[in-house]
Amino acid sequence: MILFYLLIFTIGLCVGSFLNVCIYRIPREESVIFPSSHCTNCNNRLVWKDLIPIASYLLLKGECRYCKEKISPRYAIIELITAISYVLVLIKYGFSLYSLKYLILISLLIVISLIDIDTMNIYFKTTVFGVVCGIVILAIEGISSGYGVHNYLYYFLGGIIPTIIITLIILMTRGMGWGDVEIFFICGLFLGVKLSMVMTFLSFIIGAIISLFLLYSKKKTRKDPIPFGPFIALGAFFAILMGDMIVNLYMSLYINLI
Ligand SMILES: [Zn+2]
Repeated sequence: MILFYLLIFTIGLCVGSFLNVCIYRIPREESVIFPSSHCTNCNNRLVWKDLIPIASYLLLKGECRYCKEKISPRYAIIELITAISYVLVLIKYGFSLYSLKYLILISLLIVISLIDIDTMNIYFKTTVFGVVCGIVILAIEGISSGYGVHNYLYYFLGGIIPTIIITLIILMTRGMGWGDVEIFFICGLFLGVKLSMVMTFLSFIIGAIISLFLLYSKKKTRKDPIPFGPFIALGAFFAILMGDMIVNLYMSLYINLI
């Protein structure tokens, strides 16, 4: 079992390394496949020993082998976060279609959030990929477990309900962007109604806590825009891992009150 999780961790590190490429290249309108990885400062092509997740960063002491330009620790941190979330999802959902679906969603959300933090933009390429993946996975899930109309509806409503809520918020407050609506829709499509509600609720709580922290620690002022994408991603992440527990807790509180 340990070996299995070690394998998943390693796969997570490698995917994380690819996500870093996506985060860097998508806003620059570059292909995520060609050319192969190169130093962004000296343009030297990186060879296999420069590309081992985390290990290369540590061995090279955070510098490019050729031009000694500092490499941001962010790359290694993203690889580590991807790997840890992969292991957590596998622990919770085992070797199943659910795991695959959530791994895809989490990977996509890591890319969307980091690009949102860097550029304050949500890129169409990433959201289209999300919607297409969501529909394909839903179709596979439906065929393999014999879904009826109500099952499909459960996932489409999962996407549509938060979309309506956020659209109303945007129309009333203009505090969020249309890109955020797209992320909510994708997450809901992957999560279904129940977890989608948990995700929406959590993303606002997390957003409020982090925004207050940023304001009070003077890292941001009231005038600075704060990207909301990362909060939706965190909301979805915790909904995936703890959504059932949160719903049960809420229900038991509710039943105790009446
Ligand atoms: Zn270099």
